[in-house]
Amino acid sequence: MPATVFIGLGSNLQDPVQQVLSAVEALKTLDHTHVDAISRLYETSPMGPQDQPNYINAVAKINTKLQPYDLLEKLHGIEAAHDRTRDTGRWGARTLDLDILLYADLVLTEPKLTLPHSGLHERAFVLYPLADIDDSLIIPTLGTVQQLIQQSGEPEPSIIEGKNLEIHPSVC
Ligand code: AMP
Repeated sequence: MPATVFIGLGSNLQDPVQQVLSAVEALKTLDHTHVDAISRLYETSPMGPQDQPNYINAVAKINTKLQPYDLLEKLHGIEAAHDRTRDTGRWGARTLDLDILLYADLVLTEPKLTLPHSGLHERAFVLYPLADIDDSLIIPTLGTVQQLIQQSGEPEPSIIEGKNLEIHPSVC
């Protein structure tokens, strides 16, 4: 039975817009997976150390038969194929970061996989793109995406005009 999954994409190195667009193309090549929708692209300030470039962020909605840990492994493979290294620290600059934000209504609290993603409720660069795709999305255990946006108090990040994907935000 396929699951609806939301993937967070982020990059702030080596042509970040291109990294995110290329990652979407890579998601399309995953077995038993269909990319249903992509949010607009957003430019956001870095979390943690500020001496790094701004990030480009987006969210993809996919439909997949891959199990959660198999999907996570595939995402790590896509990150590696985009020259992602893990030597820049927790909040360090990166060519590509892929997170599983939601996997159906699964709730997990394993260090290797926490669902919904642990930072989801407080991050504008995740909440606004999620709302782009599904304005009335319900986040298991947390509430609706609109409630979380209001609770976060975060303003909408800048939208990258003209760089939106052709499949935003409706069905591919
Ligand atoms: P990151 O720095 O974002 O690439 O993630 C570091 C680690 O977080 C990874 O090795 C994952 O195993 C773990 N992790 C926990 N929950 C998640 C999630 N929902 N999506 C992606 N990675 C996760």
